[in-house]
Amino acid sequence: MLGKIRRYQQLAQKLEPNSHQRESLLKTVDQYLNSFQNSLGTSSTYHPDLPAGRNKEALCIKPFPENIESIIETIQNDIIVPGLNIASPGFLGFIPGSGLYAAALGDYIAATTNRFVGFRFTAPGATRLETELIQWLCGLVGYTKYAGGNLSSGGSLANFIAIVAAREHFNIPSQDYYRLVIYLTSQTHHSVIKALRIAGLSDAYLHFIPVDDHFRMDPVALRQEIKIDKQKRLIPWLVVATLGTTNTGSVDPIAEIVDVASSYQLWVHADAAYGGCFILCKSIKKKLLAVAKADSITLDPHKGLFIPFGLGVVLTREKEHLKQAYLYDDVDYLPELHDTAYETSAASLSPELSRHFRGLRLWIPLKLYGVNIFSAALNEKILLARFFYNELLKLENIEIACKPELSIVTFRYCPTHGNANRFNTQLFELIKRRGRVFLSTTRLNQKVFLRMACLNFRTHLENIVLALEELQTAIRFLLKS
Ligand SMILES: *Cc1c(COP(=O)(O)O)cnc(C)c1O
Repeated sequence: MLGKIRRYQQLAQKLEPNSHQRESLLKTVDQYLNSFQNSLGTSSTYHPDLPAGRNKEALCIKPFPENIESIIETIQNDIIVPGLNIASPGFLGFIPGSGLYAAALGDYIAATTNRFVGFRFTAPGATRLETELIQWLCGLVGYTKYAGGNLSSGGSLANFIAIVAAREHFNIPSQDYYRLVIYLTSQTHHSVIKALRIAGLSDAYLHFIPVDDHFRMDPVALRQEIKIDKQKRLIPWLVVATLGTTNTGSVDPIAEIVDVASSYQLWVHADAAYGGCFILCKSIKKKLLAVAKADSITLDPHKGLFIPFGLGVVLTREKEHLKQAYLYDDVDYLPELHDTAYETSAASLSPELSRHFRGLRLWIPLKLYGVNIFSAALNEKILLARFFYNELLKLENIEIACKPELSIVTFRYCPTHGNANRFNTQLFELIKRRGRVFLSTTRLNQKVFLRMACLNFRTHLENIVLALEELQTAIRFLLKS
């Protein structure tokens, strides 16, 4: 038996490279990443998928080892290339991500050191860092020291965590769920409706409040509808305000909404996944100030703070509300938390237990560059959207959905004859296939619109000028064909 143990040990030891081997692995990875980063400005924003089956052999897992060069080659050619190049400065679709390199270093450190960050006891330093980071975010949105939060994997999970906290806080028996009313608009992100469903609230009533001509919730209608629902013996419960809608980047009037909601003791959730970080911009701050009165807020640093996908934030005005819903119960096989009033274990604030040390991927870039640089980059994005909008106004037959409030411009070309929806869909396809910039589409009142969403820190004036050129080239091409 001892012989066997030693033999297995010898094989298992291959899992631990020595410093020379580590250096050589890192060098290969770094070479690829350097070439990736250096070509971001010139590489295409879109690559069609590769023929099915092309990489099947390279992807299959084998009992024996393969070398890092061929593994990286597969990743480089077959895995990363096809699809949308979201890290590219020409990527102006959906809500762009960016992928700060410094954040990747945070991931690298987190994964290599592999602290267990679910409990304060196991990683007091990590809990401290994440607590300070969350408190900084609380300060940004105007929350006090009673607030708390959790770093989630993204905005959808943040919305879910908040909705469950709101459900638990109201403490409504499940047989009454069908009487609960949620107030939202046609522009609310679909992840909110999905979160309600997975929170067991499919039977609750979704009350879609009308929007104004800028696609913002009408707070007067909100008040009227709450009154009527109360008379019907329904239970008005939750208002979801969107600070930066996906379609048009519109900001619901949060001050008026919290005003209405508080007179009926409703929970206000502010979905600020896209728009929240613009609170760092002086010109936008005023519009977002009242978010401090919302009961819960979703932010998405993997959008507005440019870090790679995998980090959302949920904040609650009272940390207790998160704890009420997620408190870690003592279990026999796990240690005690050793929490303090200020430093709460992540496991007591979210559904997760073991998880990635997400705080580092945000904390390192913020420390390394300082917050002012992030403000500057976001200010630039706001102005780039205004510039794009101003230039569109000079073009003929362009209909603009509404004046941009943040960094999204939603517009369509109106051909003098023929089907406008088809024309705009073709415009989208043509611009996509040329691969110099990527715009996305949406529908507003059954009409197909194009969207220019600018949020990558790498996107600068020349990319926006190029987008305008690409748009005009595509329009001319389609009008001729
Ligand atoms: C992006 C977004 C979400 C979803 O966030 P993920 O990070 O993609 O899960 C929710 N709401 C709004 C307004 C968003 O922009």
